[in-house]
Amino acid sequence: MSAKNMEELVSLCKRRGFIFQTNDIYGGIKGLYDFGPMGVELKNNLKQSWWKSMIYERDDIEGIDASILTSPIVFKQSGHEETFTDPLVDCRSCKSRWRSDQLNENKCPQCGSNDLTDPRPFNLMFKTSIGPVDDGSTFAYLRPETCQQIFTNFKNILDSTSRNIPFGIAQIGKAFRNEITPRNFIFRVREFEQMELEFFVEPGQDDKWHQYWVDKRFEWWIEQGIKKNKIKKSTVEKKDLSHYSKSTVDIMYDFPHGEEELEGIANRTDFDLGSHTKNQDEYSISSSVIKNENSTTKLAVQNLEKKKWYIPYVIEPSAGVERGVLALLNEAYTEEEIDKDNSRIVLKLKPHLAPIKAAVIPLKKNNDEIVDFSKLIKSKLQKIGLGRVMLENSGNIGKNYRRHDEIGTPICITVDFETLEDKSVTVRDRDTMQQKRINVEELISYYTNYFN
Ligand code: ATP
Repeated sequence: MSAKNMEELVSLCKRRGFIFQTNDIYGGIKGLYDFGPMGVELKNNLKQSWWKSMIYERDDIEGIDASILTSPIVFKQSGHEETFTDPLVDCRSCKSRWRSDQLNENKCPQCGSNDLTDPRPFNLMFKTSIGPVDDGSTFAYLRPETCQQIFTNFKNILDSTSRNIPFGIAQIGKAFRNEITPRNFIFRVREFEQMELEFFVEPGQDDKWHQYWVDKRFEWWIEQGIKKNKIKKSTVEKKDLSHYSKSTVDIMYDFPHGEEELEGIANRTDFDLGSHTKNQDEYSISSSVIKNENSTTKLAVQNLEKKKWYIPYVIEPSAGVERGVLALLNEAYTEEEIDKDNSRIVLKLKPHLAPIKAAVIPLKKNNDEIVDFSKLIKSKLQKIGLGRVMLENSGNIGKNYRRHDEIGTPICITVDFETLEDKSVTVRDRDTMQQKRINVEELISYYTNYFN
């Protein structure tokens, strides 16, 4: 199952503390959202799952966390100052502004007028001044993608880890784009997070590695809970490729508003390291790069057999965290009939992504013995370290179950009077709603097995 429409998801996200409009007490800002108590856990779990699959479960990728503010030289050399633009049109009638490639029949979506200006390039990068003098002479960009700092750190990582090609550098972090028309909830926003891998390979090995990463990333999304029939690989047409790409495959997901890109996997060739290296003329760089007179470092490696220096090619899988969260919420959203008069909304997230792993519910919230016992269980489970365990001491049991179904808590553990006598608790499964009594002695292994 999935949500019937975006409104259902937006409403659940607000009601249960996943996602709020930024500064909504002042009317909000378009294209900016805040993650609430449940949203931050889901987002962290998704990022953690990506990090594990990239860094911990492999031995050929290193992680970094680089700064967001970036020198303008980086984005001059990378071509972003020149080409990181969307085509902007103005409606002469109602004065609104739009991305011309997203318009239907060249009509203003606000007033329907055909009286639009010709499209002109609009650069999506945010600028901010740096240092105490604000006269425009010293500024930095808020990076529109996380990868440039990976390229500028290439030599640092190589030297400090003694890696050989092929190997990768991964990063999760904020990116900023001044989107002309942010829309579709958290799908297209102005501040978001990316999970990016730059995988460095020998020229000639690039097509093979590109295919490898397309398949790997596709499988990963399925492991996160996306159904096979909702996701597909789509090869980007030559005319639509970014300036650095030899070929790109997008992983498309069937979002509530339509099928759109969830992740892109690009073969960026030797463009990036070739753009940022010093002494460009010493290498046979295949892509067309801007002349670099500022770089102090050579970003090349040596082929030991051939005794020849070359600029590695880069394969880049780049995924948006917000688009991932939106897709997974949509996949997990399920409306179920319990009996002929009752239904429930349940978020069938994979357990490793669930914001709350288990809720411990004292049946009587004023009974000290029951509450203390519940706290003890909570703290024992919390110490195992699989994620947040919650003491749910806030209302009646029916309401608690409904709330935890809606936020996707896999296990609810209820402590009652019987527990005080025989040390047994009721364990309720989110998906089957089945309840069983188990002894607290067995609870830790039950809980650990459930998540492993
Ligand atoms: P689109 O064509 O949808 O604008 P893009 O091709 O510009 O996306 P990339 O530059 O390939 O996107 O960025 C890599 C990933 O970053 C995308 O697959 C997406 O998941 C995420 N992303 C890009 N722009 C946004 C945005 N404005 N809001 C949320 N996520 C984004």
